[in-house]
Amino acid sequence: MSGYSQRCIAKLEVLGAPRSGWTCKNVETMEDATFACELCDYDRIRYVHVMAHPQWSGEFRVGCVCDGTMSGNMLAAQERDDSAKRRETRRRAFLKKQWAEHPAGFMVLPKTRKAITAEIDSFRGREFYKVIVGGEPYQWWKNRRIETLEAAKAVAFEVLEYERKTD
Ligand SMILES: [Zn+2]
Repeated sequence: MSGYSQRCIAKLEVLGAPRSGWTCKNVETMEDATFACELCDYDRIRYVHVMAHPQWSGEFRVGCVCDGTMSGNMLAAQERDDSAKRRETRRRAFLKKQWAEHPAGFMVLPKTRKAITAEIDSFRGREFYKVIVGGEPYQWWKNRRIETLEAAKAVAFEVLEYERKTD
């Protein structure tokens, strides 16, 4: 067992938290690799694994190794980490795509799996973008209007990724 795993378990014991039986709810991608694991203190984490347990009310935000220690499956933890890395690679490639202006006035994102367009709309004088992905319109994202073409692109990526998961 690595020093990080030992530190992880020691910290769980100090906190009175269960040592095993944790599940990874989600892996969040940070802008850079500077996040510090809440359990082992390893501080160069880019992909943060959010761990939950039925007998523990809070969550721990940790790195890949602590996920493996807590969930009891290092390979699955590694696969979650790799999957987040692949998603980040797709996101970076996607965000490099450039909007093109359609003669009819709306914007088109070329070479995507589904047709993606963005058009200006307004509500009470305030302008925002309406993003249409494969015929589905999105005017809100995380309870906010989509106000820039960059934000519109990010929304389109999230929609495509969500559909990828549920396909
Ligand atoms: Zn850790």
